[in-house]
Amino acid sequence: MKLLIDKIEKEGTVLANDVLKVDAFLNHQMDPFLMKEIGEEFARLFSSENITKVVTIESSGIGPGLMTALALQVPLVFARKKKSITMQQDVYTAKVYSFTKKEENEISISHKWLEAGDRVLIIDDFLANGQAALGLLSIVEEAKAEAVGFGIVIEKAFQEGGNLLRERGYRVESLARIQSLKDNKVTFVEETLH
Ligand code: 5GP
Repeated sequence: MKLLIDKIEKEGTVLANDVLKVDAFLNHQMDPFLMKEIGEEFARLFSSENITKVVTIESSGIGPGLMTALALQVPLVFARKKKSITMQQDVYTAKVYSFTKKEENEISISHKWLEAGDRVLIIDDFLANGQAALGLLSIVEEAKAEAVGFGIVIEKAFQEGGNLLRERGYRVESLARIQSLKDNKVTFVEETLH
C-alpha cells in the first residue's frame, strides 16, 4: 500500500534488534486518515469472505481494527492484556510472548463476544514472530469460530510469523512487507511497492 510505505519511509525509524518505530502514525500518535485507508483496504481484500467480526489485540491493533470493522460494518473485539475486574470469568485466554516488551501476557476475550460460527478477520499492527497472531487464533478456535484470515499492517518478512501462518493454510494480507531493517535502513519486499 503506497500511502503506508511512503509514511514508513518518511516517518519510521529503525531501532536496535530489528524493531521499526512508527509511533508518529501508528503506535502512539495515530494518523486517522491513514487508518481509514488501511481499514478500507482490508475490507476490500476480504470483501467476499462474509466476515462477522474483526478481532485484534490491545492497544495498537485497535486503530486499524476499528477502521476495518467500520468498513466491513461488523463489530470489533479486542483481546485484553490484563483482565479487568469486570471480566474474571467466562473468558477465553492464551499466553502471548511480546516481541517488543520481552514479557509474557495472558490475553483474554470474554465468551460473550465470540460465537461459534463467527467468521473472524484477525487484524494486527505488526507481524514479527507470530506470537500475537497465534494467541488470537487459538482463542478464535477455542470459541469454535472460524479464522478467515489475517490483515497485518506491517509484516517483517524476515521473521517467522508470516511463514508460520501461511504454512498452516491461512490467508495473510500485509499492507507493507519489510525484507530487512539492516544498517538502519528499511528495505521492502518488492511486491508490496506497487
Ligand atoms: P509477534 O507476536 O508477531 O512476534 O509480534 C507482533 C507484536 O509485537 C505486534 O502486536 C506489535 O505490537 C509488536 N511488534 C513486533 N515487531 C514490532 C516492531 O518492529 N515495531 C513495533 N512498533 N512493534 C512490533
